[in-house]
Amino acid sequence: MPFCDTCGRYRIQGHEHDCPPSFTVSCPEFDTSRTVRADDHEDAAKRWADIFDWDGDYIIVGGEEPVVVVTDGTGEQKTFRVSGRSVPVYDAVEIKEGEGQQHVD
Ligand SMILES: [Zn+2]
Repeated sequence: MPFCDTCGRYRIQGHEHDCPPSFTVSCPEFDTSRTVRADDHEDAAKRWADIFDWDGDYIIVGGEEPVVVVTDGTGEQKTFRVSGRSVPVYDAVEIKEGEGQQHVD
């Protein structure tokens, strides 16, 4: 497995890997709390949003902006409002001569 079992980050084979520190992210609005590994408080809030949204029908990408309280190992707390957006992806398929100009799905 190229991904670390503890923090979920990509591990380069044969290189030392230090997991980032643990943060507790609580969201009173949705009565949920979990531990995430992250570089700092803000990164922890974003990682929480990524996991929470995947588990919860993408309500954050859908426009919800829940407030979370992030606590690090020393007890320092910071509060964030998290939001998200989906990124559109476009494709282009060449229409060769003779295939006409119809709309292609
Ligand atoms: Zn790790």
